[in-house]
Amino acid sequence: MNKSTIHPDETLLTAYSAGSLPLSQALCISAHVEHCPTCQQEIKHLNDLGSELMQQLKPSPGSTDLKAQLLARLDSLDETHEAPTRIDKTISRCLHQFIKNGYQNLAWKRVSPDIHSVELCRDSNGAKVELLRIKPGGAATTHTHLGDEYTVILEGSFSDESGLYQKGDFLLRDASHQHRPVATQDGECICLAVTEGPIQFTGLFSRLLNPLIRRSYA
Ligand SMILES: [Zn+2]
Repeated sequence: MNKSTIHPDETLLTAYSAGSLPLSQALCISAHVEHCPTCQQEIKHLNDLGSELMQQLKPSPGSTDLKAQLLARLDSLDETHEAPTRIDKTISRCLHQFIKNGYQNLAWKRVSPDIHSVELCRDSNGAKVELLRIKPGGAATTHTHLGDEYTVILEGSFSDESGLYQKGDFLLRDASHQHRPVATQDGECICLAVTEGPIQFTGLFSRLLNPLIRRSYA
């Protein structure tokens, strides 16, 4: 089943608002929300609901902590409207901690003639958080995934069998979905990608790569 969507669905936004998503997924939601006024409104609404619910509960040491977390989250949402000061303003705020000196200065590794990647971190659940950089008109190898794959477009745009995706768009692909993203000709495409399991290449020759890729998740 193709689970792709331009926005994260209600379940993901609710879990994000409640602070219950793994770090890797929360980063993808944050990166999308920075570009999406609709989801900013939705999260503010969910946060307000959470706040109301909290006030109806009897205070306990635990709920005080929760409320502090909630308020901090609201503050950080407001901060997304401030202009970043020191570093490249094109970098998503939630990624500043990983990218101190701009996209160009990251330790990009060549994946194929068209694609470079750099790993930003690993989540405690093993998910890999990385940036992908696809040259204008460049294509990724046709692949499926062993787990879910989250993608947020940070710069540029790409298309695949299902449509055209642009800056800020959020995609969720599950293991059964086979696709081949191609960057548009007008510029380089930079994506935040979270993969919960190794990618399975499905092309005849690239299938030979699968054991090597799997090893990188061990
Ligand atoms: Zn949205």
